[in-house]
Order: sequence, then C-alpha cells, then structure tokens
Amino acid sequence: MAKKETKWYWIALGTVTLSVVSDNISEYTKNIPVVKQIVDLFKWLYTISERFLTMQFPLWSYLLFSICVWGIFRLLKSMFKDTNQHPSFYTYNKDKFRFWIWRWEWVWSERYNSWVITNLLSFCPVCDVGLLHVGSHKQVRCPKCQTRWPDDGAFYAEHEYEDKDDIEQLILANVRSMESKQNNG
Ligand SMILES: [Zn+2]
Repeated sequence: MAKKETKWYWIALGTVTLSVVSDNISEYTKNIPVVKQIVDLFKWLYTISERFLTMQFPLWSYLLFSICVWGIFRLLKSMFKDTNQHPSFYTYNKDKFRFWIWRWEWVWSERYNSWVITNLLSFCPVCDVGLLHVGSHKQVRCPKCQTRWPDDGAFYAEHEYEDKDDIEQLILANVRSMESKQNNG
C-alpha cells in the first residue's frame, strides 16, 4: 500500500518549461492569482539563472541564490503535500466477511513505510454491538443478544470463529484488488 508522493518537482519542471516556452503564458494565467504568482516566480528564477550563467557574481550571491531556491522548493513541497495525503482505500473501514461485522482504521506507518490497519474490531451482525471474547476460548458473544460464535459446547468449531489475522489479510487482499481495478481503468 505505497503512499503516493506528490510529484512537486514535476509540477515545478512543467511550470518552468511552460514559462520559458511561451512568453504569452502570463496572458492566460493573469486571472488565476496563485498560478500567475507561481509562473511569475519561475520566470524570475529563470531570468536570475540566466544571468548567473552569463555573468560574473561574487561567491556569496551564488550561496544566497541557492538558499533561496532551496527555501522556495521546500515551501512548494509543503504546499502540495496535503493535497494527496489519503489513499483511495482510506474510507474502506467496514466490511462483513463471514458472520461478523468488522471495523478498522488506516494509519501511516513510518516503520513499514506503508498504510497499516489499526483498531480492527468485530461487531454483532444483528445488533452492531462490539463482540466480547468468552474467557480464554476462541469464542465471542454479543453483549446485547447474547449470541455466541461458535455455539456453546462447540469451542473448537474454528470455522465459526473469525481470526483477526485472517481478517486483516482479507482486507489487504480486497485493497489490492481495488487498486488493480483502478490501475486498469
Ligand atoms: Zn447481537
């Protein structure tokens, strides 16, 4: 579940290309304040860069220019960072696989460099109330309707029990198939 990085540098490169290729770009963008500012900024950067390449400047001005460019790119990166923060499967946080209803949340894990499932909990399919484990057995019960899975006396009927690890894998498989459908149009 790789996070989609905003390709800010492609936007920057595209804007530079546009502003250099077409002198009339300002005419088209002057009514869109933000775009106009960005285009003007890159036009200015281009002019400055051109001067640096053709003229002699003291060393400190090169350093100052580098710091300015670095600062501007940092600013642009932070501006574009939040627009694509959540993946498409972020709102997929409830499903029924066999008997129970399952709910969970997605959190970004720096450690795994991936979106991971957290707070995965099971709910009664009739009452939608959180299920409770019965003692240390692989059995749950609904605190409202008192239904048990598996039924009493069938503690080892594991096919009636839904394991958290299994459910997590089923969710991840669904997300993968959702993503492949999206990628295939
Ligand atoms: Zn119930």
